[in-house]
Parts: sequence; C-alpha cells; structure tokens
Amino acid sequence: MKKIGVLTSGGDAPGMNAAIRAVVRKSIYHEIEVYGIKHGFQGLIDGSIEKMEVGSVGDIIQRGGTKLYSARCEEFKTEEGQQKGIEQLRKHEIEGLIVIGGDGSFMGAKKLTEKGYPCIGVPGTIDNDIPGTDFTIGFDTALNTIIDAIDKIRDTATSHERTYVIEVMGRNAGDLALWSGLADGAESVIVPEMDDEFAEVIERLKRGHDRGKKHSIIIVAEGAGSGVDFSKRVEQATDLETRVTVLGHTQRGGSPTASDRVLASRLGAYAVDLLIEGKAGCMVGIENNQLVNHDILEVLNRKHSVDMDLYRLSKELSI
Ligand code: ATP
Repeated sequence: MKKIGVLTSGGDAPGMNAAIRAVVRKSIYHEIEVYGIKHGFQGLIDGSIEKMEVGSVGDIIQRGGTKLYSARCEEFKTEEGQQKGIEQLRKHEIEGLIVIGGDGSFMGAKKLTEKGYPCIGVPGTIDNDIPGTDFTIGFDTALNTIIDAIDKIRDTATSHERTYVIEVMGRNAGDLALWSGLADGAESVIVPEMDDEFAEVIERLKRGHDRGKKHSIIIVAEGAGSGVDFSKRVEQATDLETRVTVLGHTQRGGSPTASDRVLASRLGAYAVDLLIEGKAGCMVGIENNQLVNHDILEVLNRKHSVDMDLYRLSKELSI
C-alpha cells in the first residue's frame, strides 16, 4: 500500500481531529502517502482531495470538530455516486480509505470495499451507538459537556426548588443519558432501549418530595421522545413546578477530553496497521481496553443496547 485516503463523515465528534492526525502520522511513519478528502463522501465524489504532510495535522489534536469537514451525502448511497467516488480514488491512485464516522458512514465504507476499494471504519460519534466497540470517539467529551451543564442547572433547580427535565442527544441510543444520569445523580433516566417507565418516574418524584426533597433532575434521551413533552406530562401528573432544557448541539463541540484524544490516536493508528496488513471492510474498536476489529456488516446487524448493569445501578442509587 503506497497511498491511502482519510475522510470524516456524518455528525462531527470531538476527537475526530486526533484520529485524522493519527492516521496521517502513522501512514507517514510507514512511508505511505496520505490524502485528506474534505466534506466526507460528497468531497470524494467532487474530488476535493489533497495530500497531507506531517505539518498538515499540527495543532489540531486539542480541537473539536473536524479539519477535513464533514457532510451527509445522499448521492453516495446510489451506485452512480459510489462509482464517481471510485473514479476519484483511481485518479489519485489511492489504494485504501479510512472512514471516520458513524454507522451510516460505515455502510459507505462497506460499499466501496465490495467494489474493490479496501476501507476501514473508525467509530467517531458522540452517540456511542456502534456495536463492536465499548466507546466511540467523542462520547467521553460529550458526556463531560453534559455533566458540566447539568451541574449548573442543578444550582438553579436547588435554589428554586424545581424539577428539571434535561433532554440530551444520542440518536436512538441511551448511553449519553444513562452515563450522565449516573455521573450527575439524576433522579430518573429515560432511555429508548427500555419501555416507558413514566409511572415509576412519578412515583420516585413523589417519594422524594414526601421525604422533603425539593428539586429533581430527570434526563431524557432524545431517542426516547421530546423533553418538552415529558416535562408537560410530569406537570400534569404532579403539582411540581417543572422546567425543561434541551442541551442540543453544545454537546457536539468542544475540545476533546484526554480520554477521547488517546482513544482516537489508538484507533486511527490501528486502522492504518490493518490496511497495511491487507484487511478491508472492517471497523476498529476498543473492547476491555484492547484494540479489536470486526466486519462492518456483522457489526451493523447487531442491535445496540445500553449497559444493563449501569441501568440497574442508576435506579438503585436514586431510590
Ligand atoms: P452519525 O450517526 O454520528 O451522524 P453516521 O455516519 O451514521 O454518523 P449518516 O448520516 O447515517 O451518519 O451517514 C453519513 C453518510 O454516509 C451519508 O450521508 C452517506 O453519504 C453515507 N451512507 C450512509 N448510508 C449509506 C449506504 N447505505 N450506502 C452508502 N453510503 C451510505
């Protein structure tokens, strides 16, 4: 392998830059030329491709977002779109591609692999919704952003003796909600993976109130429904004054945590190693702190689930 390409695709995540840096530096370390493709698969189709040097990725390890920009590209889901991408890869004599993104982006990588272009996926998404890895790049940073916000909201909740409903991101996964709930001692956490537990939430609120508790924090994962709707239901079912905060895109940005930078560096470098070894159509991940790789299709056929031990623990600690 003499030339490889790297792109970021789907929603951006803090730590993507650290992953790009690792891909570029590890490739150059192995005397492989590396090309950055801007704007994800859209940039691949458009030929937005440029050679990267050691210095191209200087001063980015600490930055959120992605230096290569990200995009969603409907055209790439079509045969014609993929063919255009392949033509660009051929033109630049790129022999392998590293795709940093979420499960949708991995499908694009798989399609290219099936058409003869070896691709490796690196999981970059704050949602932590990709099976085959304990953590995705960006999850830890988003989690810390959420915790910082909830700590601040808690001050107001306490001062005004209110119930706060906080809606967090995560697409169809409840990991951000569950982990932030545990880390912040929330009274209830609502995740899409579990059935509606509204009655239990109300019972817990009333029990706390009866014992003199004046404020509560309820975290709702976006995949479980709207925080605004949930807060209305709470007000209807109790006489507690309720407020809602939707944290939104603040969760996607910011300087990556040390943990995300290290994870991104390990996964990015490992992806290069796999391409050198002749692997293709797989994603890299971390399981029990060990680097692993799995076939993309096998992974995407698995259903994501939240950690049930953590879910039970969050309930036990918020009696
Ligand atoms: P996140 O979930 O964090 O936003 P993602 O990678 O899952 O990231 P998607 O919007 O699902 O985000 O996918 C990103 C891009 O990957 C799409 O815009 C498209 O270009 C490509 N893609 C998605 N699904 C396919 C597919 N089935 N075949 C080819 N390309 C695909």
